[in-house]
Amino acid sequence: KKAQIGVTGLAVMGANLARNLARHGHTVALHNRSVEKTDALLAEHGDDGEFIRTETMQELVDSLEKPRRILVMVKAGAPVDAVIDQLVPLLDEDDIIIDGGNSHYPDTIRREAALAEKNIHFVGVGVSGGEEGALNGPSIMPGGSAKSYESLGPLLEDISAKADDGTPCCAWIGTDGAGHFVKMVHNGIEYADMQVIGEAYELLRDVAGQEPGDQANTFAEWNRTELSSYLIEITAEVLKQVDARTGKPLVDVIVDAAGMKGTGTWTVMAALDLGSPVTAIAESVFARALSSTERETRLEAQKTLAAGVRESDTVGDAAFVEDVRRALYCSKLVAYAQGMEMLATASGEHNWDLKLDTIASLWRAGCIIRAELLQDIMAAYKDGAEPRNLLFAPVFRDVIEEYLPSWRRVVVEATERGIPAPVFSSSLAYYDGLRRPRLNAALTQGLRDYFGAHTYGRIDTDGAFHTLWSGDRSEIDS
Ligand code: NDP
Repeated sequence: KKAQIGVTGLAVMGANLARNLARHGHTVALHNRSVEKTDALLAEHGDDGEFIRTETMQELVDSLEKPRRILVMVKAGAPVDAVIDQLVPLLDEDDIIIDGGNSHYPDTIRREAALAEKNIHFVGVGVSGGEEGALNGPSIMPGGSAKSYESLGPLLEDISAKADDGTPCCAWIGTDGAGHFVKMVHNGIEYADMQVIGEAYELLRDVAGQEPGDQANTFAEWNRTELSSYLIEITAEVLKQVDARTGKPLVDVIVDAAGMKGTGTWTVMAALDLGSPVTAIAESVFARALSSTERETRLEAQKTLAAGVRESDTVGDAAFVEDVRRALYCSKLVAYAQGMEMLATASGEHNWDLKLDTIASLWRAGCIIRAELLQDIMAAYKDGAEPRNLLFAPVFRDVIEEYLPSWRRVVVEATERGIPAPVFSSSLAYYDGLRRPRLNAALTQGLRDYFGAHTYGRIDTDGAFHTLWSGDRSEIDS
């Protein structure tokens, strides 16, 4: 009997995806560079379903039905290229290599093009949901050729998370690197989502005087509002945790230096290339950098830099807590709006024809940013409806109109008390930047023309103009 799919790379992610496939009734061929991992998986979970044990790449390839499907779950980067190089000589036309790791999308574009020349499909798949998701149903974002999805899609949809309405959180995203790109932006949004939660936590603590234990209740309540999401849910869990060694809230004994593995940085780098203003994601990445890379500087700054804050009492009323909730919701909306705009811009750039409603639908379950909000985002983009900006969708425009006074109050409060709220405040600046009838970019253009003769446009006529700044200051049509 041949296997429907092979998995090579059986660390946590590969092993759990293999088990998930087997539990869904597919025969799975197992392979790992060092055979110990293969045997450990078989020993512990061999009864999850039908597995075929293989030791070499040749055995792996021989154990598969055609066209072959091989899921590569090795360490991202050079190991993926190494595995591809070993596989390619053993494969036939129309076979499919699937990269389910966190590969950088330009690598995926490069690999897809190289394998397409050999008529082998290369499918970069974004997989979100961590270890637990891989086993019980992740959100899956496959790129690659549309043809490869005909053969691969049913299998992936089978093991994916299912939204409340039963639809699989897996759909073809677009050609070559589209799947990995969308997964990358998902991670960028995840950074912003976590940062706004962090900002709310700090304000509830330092302004509203809520200790972590009390805040756990606040977040649990918020999870029953339109903020309902996995991240809000687990925030309540983390804040509730008491450290066994000291009896303090665990959050107070955790070092305040946030780690990152790079997908947020990739998102911002790609956004800069596209000219896409994902300020909420960028601020979130930089907030982590300030916390960790700049830790020593912060320790010194605490001793030397003035505070200049408004001293005032705690604002212990329910109204302020609600203000913070509203500010959190608005800032989160901006982060999603910016992420979706970035996807739309990239879609044009790479000819991906990304379907934003489908993408929002895939994030409804299985992944870290799963949230009730995605249902509304999906509706806003439904059937190709394309609000120029997500914030224009009536459902969001109206909520923001109602919540704006709270959002502004919270940013003022944070600023006056010297509490950094980079995403709350930059999201508000982005929002105001969108709606202002005139931006100070006019002055920027004047300055650029002054020092570099870069020219400017006029509001009353077409063309490019230059003022003879060092001459008689007359204007010429350039
Ligand atoms: P690791 O990233 O730790 O990679 C370990 C695996 O890669 C082992 O099977 C190892 O084999 C294999 N490997 C490393 N180098 C080579 C090589 N040169 N040739 C062949 N095999 C090699 O595994 P994870 O399971 O943590 O992650 C797999 C992928 O999934 C990564 O891209 C990771 O970023 C991504 N990931 C995604 C998550 C998500 O939520 N979507 C969460 C975690 C990871 P050996 O046993 O022989 O050393």
